[in-house]
Amino acid sequence: MKIGELRCLFLKCYKKGRTPFMSVGPQWQFTIGLFVFAILAATYFIFMINVLKNLDYRFKVVHFLLIIINVFALILGVFQNPGVPQSVFDYKLKKQLGKNDQKTDNEEDEERQSLNQRDSSQIKRNTSRNAFCEPCNLQKDQTVYHCSDCDVCIKDLDHHCMFFSKCIGKGNVYMFYTSIILLFVVFTYFGVMVVVDAVYKK
Ligand SMILES: [Zn+2]
Ligand SMILES: [Zn+2]
Repeated sequence: MKIGELRCLFLKCYKKGRTPFMSVGPQWQFTIGLFVFAILAATYFIFMINVLKNLDYRFKVVHFLLIIINVFALILGVFQNPGVPQSVFDYKLKKQLGKNDQKTDNEEDEERQSLNQRDSSQIKRNTSRNAFCEPCNLQKDQTVYHCSDCDVCIKDLDHHCMFFSKCIGKGNVYMFYTSIILLFVVFTYFGVMVVVDAVYKK
């Protein structure tokens, strides 16, 4: 199911099917490239580690665990909801399921009203940044930005990442930076292991 340009998979057993279990952005080709790179790098490391014969196996286990955590963070970051507000999912799902009868219209009005009330304090502070997003049916505040690539509102948008093929926002920003930092750690740690192995050889 498409929410904006995000292809979403909703599961009944996951948060009652109101939030996607996983979602993929519009530039998913880049994401496949990213995963191919990750698999190649992991295979290379695992192969190379066996070549380093002078190292204590504990160093290798730590490196292997780092790779596993890195891949895990990458997968979470890529497939998590980047920070699309729940009300946007509710609105778009309702619209796509074609349940726009009288009752749901009222519900929408109520939702909108409650959103307005919640944001009223921020509206007073800065009116110019507040705008109503028509496609998302959302009263935005300063923390919400409508991404033109994803065509959906994102909370606490960091940036739109080509390789993750989606926005980096409130929902996946920690996993995004965790996977990038871990990537450097994995590569650096490998470099250190190669050097240590060479030293032990003598
Ligand atoms: Zn929007
Ligand atoms: Zn985006």
